[in-house]
Amino acid sequence: MCLICTEPLDSLAEMVWLDCSWCDAVTAIPPEMVNLVRLNCHDCPRLASIPDTLVDLVCLYCYNCPLLASIPSTLVDLMELSCTKCLLISSIPSSLVKLVVLYCAGCPLLVSLPDTLAQLVELVCPDCPRLASIPGELVKLNMLNCSNCPRLVAIPSTLIQLGWLNCFNCPLILSIPSTLARLTYERCAGCPWLPQNAATYPNHTPSLLRLQRWFRTGKKQVFKRVIRSKAFNEFVFHPDRIGGRLVKRQMEAELGAMRPATKQRVE
Ligand SMILES: [Zn+2]
Repeated sequence: MCLICTEPLDSLAEMVWLDCSWCDAVTAIPPEMVNLVRLNCHDCPRLASIPDTLVDLVCLYCYNCPLLASIPSTLVDLMELSCTKCLLISSIPSSLVKLVVLYCAGCPLLVSLPDTLAQLVELVCPDCPRLASIPGELVKLNMLNCSNCPRLVAIPSTLIQLGWLNCFNCPLILSIPSTLARLTYERCAGCPWLPQNAATYPNHTPSLLRLQRWFRTGKKQVFKRVIRSKAFNEFVFHPDRIGGRLVKRQMEAELGAMRPATKQRVE
């Protein structure tokens, strides 16, 4: 039980700060709470929506709300938002242009991020299996955690304020842009074709095997694009890659059953 469950609406309506987190009963935030500046409503398993009337909100922490399907586009004053592990969230409104901090980790339906978040300093978006890109317009970004995003293909070269980057286990990233001169922390293990990782080839076998799994589970186009890239072939067939040819034969054997007979061999 939380304040929403126990207090009369009259006393709630004047509040500027509310924490109703961890309540199993709450299903809605009263839309009359228009003075709220900060709302903590995380870990509410029955909360299905945030009212679009809360236009004064600056901070919204609504993570771990599995029924929450959207963030209202009217919350244009938001500076901090965490919708981490909101399993139904598929987008972040492009109108949230004042956002400084955005946590959207583990959102399985999130496909993209708006290119309007020019004030964003901190972006934490790991474990988003559909996220395909980081907008190059996030020019103030200082901290980026995009680890375990298997569809991410690049870190934009325009993120010149970036000081902290974690792209651990992003196996489609081919390079870290040289324009990121302010980087002081960089975690990029599990990105098999980054030059700085080439010497540790055996450590990347799990990434290659994961690519095989995506291929088997239907992400054929992604895999086809990767396996035909110059970087991939340089990585697998480089003379220094002990075991590279073995991996290649293993992959061909595993993929062979899926490849239509008319298709040419992948070389
Ligand atoms: Zn409650």
